[in-house]
Amino acid sequence: MLKADLHCHTLASAHAYSTLLELLTFAKRKGLSVLAMTDHGPALPDSPQIWHFRNLRTLPEEYDGIRLLRGVEANIMDEEGTLDLPDRILSALEWVIASFHDDAYRGGDAAANTKTWLNIIKNPHVDMLGHPDRLPFVFDHETVIKACREYGKVLEINNHSFRMTRGSVRDLEDIVRLCKKYDVLLGINSDAHVCFDVGEVSDAERLINDFGYNKDLVINYSPEMILELVSKKRGTDG
Ligand SMILES: [Zn+2]
Ligand SMILES: [Zn+2]
Repeated sequence: MLKADLHCHTLASAHAYSTLLELLTFAKRKGLSVLAMTDHGPALPDSPQIWHFRNLRTLPEEYDGIRLLRGVEANIMDEEGTLDLPDRILSALEWVIASFHDDAYRGGDAAANTKTWLNIIKNPHVDMLGHPDRLPFVFDHETVIKACREYGKVLEINNHSFRMTRGSVRDLEDIVRLCKKYDVLLGINSDAHVCFDVGEVSDAERLINDFGYNKDLVINYSPEMILELVSKKRGTDG
């Protein structure tokens, strides 16, 4: 049973529509025990600015039995994999997603995007590769997925992608197939922009079930595994 949603936006991102309390209320209703608040990094035009992320420490660690992870969906800014928050801010966050968004960076060809993902994977502050299926950000699936395994990074199967015309279900299938081959940790998340979508991962879940994915590698089923990843990272950061 789904226990966590690790990719949600509040109205701090102006194209999302719910407060943190509304997200937590719906998370509770869906039986979740971990929720990551991951508003967009400052490079997108309607995103919160750096103070939002610096001040996340004022939020409670837990509310109504739900562990709240303070996070970001950071924007990839260039081929080197630079993110749009400085390391000193990223190191204080508990859940860092790195995603390509074309308003922040248009990406390159498959070779360039592969290099970018490899740099992201080597970044110790990054926990999860956000919606890697999204077009036009093509890349060499096998190279990147093998590196996820090597560096212990989580790859996201984003439920929102199934509703987007610019996503590719065929790419998603190939990604899941290779993740299964290499035993990669998966995150299945709603990418909710409104509270009603929190915990809504039915399309992602159907896809991984179709492939007979090992549930032990899907972190959303195990709060313990998530909290271990978070505390291991904190240990690395000192
Ligand atoms: Zn995104
Ligand atoms: Zn998002």
